[in-house]
Amino acid sequence: MRLEGMKKSIVVQDGSKVYASMGNKPCNLGCIYCFVNAEGYPGAGRVDTQEGLQQLIFEIEKEENIKIILPSHDVELFLVKNWSEELMKLAEFGLFIVISTKLSLDRGVPPRNWERIDQLKRIDARLKSNNNALLQIAVSITRLTDWKEIEQFTSSPEERITTVQRLSEAGLAVNIAIRPTLPFVPREEFEELIARTAPYCESYLTSPLYLTPKMKSYMDKRYPGYEVELFRPAFMQGGTEIETVNTRKTMDMVKEIAAKYNRSCFTRSGPAIEHAISLRS
Ligand code: SF4
Repeated sequence: MRLEGMKKSIVVQDGSKVYASMGNKPCNLGCIYCFVNAEGYPGAGRVDTQEGLQQLIFEIEKEENIKIILPSHDVELFLVKNWSEELMKLAEFGLFIVISTKLSLDRGVPPRNWERIDQLKRIDARLKSNNNALLQIAVSITRLTDWKEIEQFTSSPEERITTVQRLSEAGLAVNIAIRPTLPFVPREEFEELIARTAPYCESYLTSPLYLTPKMKSYMDKRYPGYEVELFRPAFMQGGTEIETVNTRKTMDMVKEIAAKYNRSCFTRSGPAIEHAISLRS
């Protein structure tokens, strides 16, 4: 799979201007559906080098009316050295910040060490005191069982659910990203995932499933006969259309289950944080 023309880092989602910085170095958590390791993936505005951070700050400063920043949009943020200091620098802009993770934020067991959550609380407090902005953490949990087949080095779903509880108890805005939304996960598994996380989150996110070469090989072996369609992510306007598995029915199912718990379900980060903002106003 070769990606071309993927350079847009600013998009407007439902009237909100969103800046997303992407990774230009492969993330090593090994999710087989992820396209950050694909040939031609250009990356932009990485924040884990001084130059990358400066570039990001420069682009945010020159662009008017940005409302939301998604730093390290396509790379696991907590692999970034000095992520906390760098987020704190971005907090000086007083813009809304959305981060996402597939890792436990506990540094070791035992004893439990939730220092990362304390750091996030400080960043959120800085944002609140600066323009009444907000930090939202999207914890990605695609399924509860057999996750290692597709996410080799992430934390387990159980560890991620514990993290979600701790983030919520710390008063932080939490969103659960059931993305990519896997069309082969049985309804009962989504029912359990949502029942266990709804008390601790404000909303859910769903998405299509990118058909990377590894994901294609997995689907061909395990779930042949799936429906393929072309999809162009918001941040790839003008770029390559990506082959995806049609997951609309599954996304609708997740939305329907989330509604039973009075939780909204979105397909894009912009509206999800707008929702978090509306809950606080
Ligand atoms: S953690 Fe995120 S960026 Fe890293 S491989 Fe998985 S999906 Fe890709």
